[in-house]
Amino acid sequence: MIIITRQGVTDSELDHIRERVEILGMRTHISRGEHQTVIGCIGDDTLIQEVSLLSLPGVQQVVPVMKPYKLAAREFVAEPTVVRVGDVHGASIGGRELAVIAGPCSVEGREMLLASAEAVRSAGASLLRGGAYKPRSSPYAFQGLGVTALKLLAEVRAETGLPVVTEVMDTRQVEVVAEHADVLQIGARNMQNFSLLSEVGRIQRPVLLKRGLSATIKELLMAAEYIMAQGNRDVILCERGIRTYETATRNTFDVAAIPVLKQETHLPVIVDPSHAGGRADLVAPLSYAAIAAGADGLIIEVHPAPETALSDGDQSLAPAAFAALMKSLPPFAAAVGRTLDPQTLEVEVAA
Ligand code: PEP
Ligand code: MN
Repeated sequence: MIIITRQGVTDSELDHIRERVEILGMRTHISRGEHQTVIGCIGDDTLIQEVSLLSLPGVQQVVPVMKPYKLAAREFVAEPTVVRVGDVHGASIGGRELAVIAGPCSVEGREMLLASAEAVRSAGASLLRGGAYKPRSSPYAFQGLGVTALKLLAEVRAETGLPVVTEVMDTRQVEVVAEHADVLQIGARNMQNFSLLSEVGRIQRPVLLKRGLSATIKELLMAAEYIMAQGNRDVILCERGIRTYETATRNTFDVAAIPVLKQETHLPVIVDPSHAGGRADLVAPLSYAAIAAGADGLIIEVHPAPETALSDGDQSLAPAAFAALMKSLPPFAAAVGRTLDPQTLEVEVAA
C-alpha cells in the first residue's frame, strides 16, 4: 500500500501518518519527490482501514499495491532512482546521462586489466568491469583469479579513477568483494540465489542484478525486492538476453523488457549486449536498440586481444572497435533525450 500525501505536507504530519501505520505492525518508507511525497507501507494491511488513513491531516490518497514486489515498484517512490557509485571518482546510473561500464569478461592479469581500463576510459566509459569469480558452465574452464583479481581491480581503480564492477557468486565472498569493488554484480545464474540476494541486501554497496537465463520480468523484480527488503536500495537491473529456441545468437535480447521494466520499477535498467548476442559484430546494433528502448546504460566486454581471451573472446570488442562504438552512440542517446559522458561527446566533436 502507498500513501500519497498532499503537496506541502509538513514533517509533523508525516511523522503522525507513519506512527499510525507502524502501530499496526507495518513498516514504512518515505520517498520525497520534487512535487510529491509518498509513504510506502509494507506488511499485513488487513488492520488498516483506508477511511481512517484518509482522514489524517496531510493524506491525499491511499493506493493498494497488489504486486508481489513493493520497494521495487514504480508507485513506491516519487522519482526514478539514480544509483551513485564510488566515492572519490563517482559515477551515477539512472540519470539523464547514460552510463557505460566496460572491460574484460575476466581479469586475466595486471597488464591486460590496466590496458583494458585505459582503453575504455579514454573511449568514454565511466566504470570498469572485470570478473574475479567466473560462473563457467564447465568446471574445467578458467574459473577466474579470485582474490588476486579483486586486488588488481582495486589497484587499477586507483590508477585510472574508474569505479569497478565485479561478480560475487557466493555468500562467503560478499565481504571480500565489497572490500575491493564499488558495485557487486549478481550474475544471471544466481538471480534466484535468495540467500546471496539477502546477503548483498545487508551491505551498503550498489548491486548490479542480471536477469536469469530463463527468468521472467516479474521474477527479476522479485529478486530485486529480496535485496531491497534487507535495506539496500541501490539496485541496478540488467537485461542480458534470455534462453529461447534461437541458436544464431547466444541468447535472445529481450528489447521489450526495457520499456516494461521502466513502467514497473523506478530502478535503473541497463543492457549487456555482449552476453545477449554472444557475438562481437552484434554489440553495436544491440547497443543502439537498447538506448532507443530507454536503457540507462550498457555493460560491454572489451579485451585488449579478444582472440586470446580466457573467457568470452567471441563477444568481446577490441579497444578500437569499442572506441568506434562509443563515438557512434551520441546520436542514439540524443534521439531519446539522453546524453553521454562529456568526454565521449568531445571525442565525437573532435572526430
Ligand atoms: C559476465 O558478466 O561475465 C557474466 C557471466 O554474465 P551473465 O551472468 O549475464 O552470464
Ligand atoms: Mn562474460
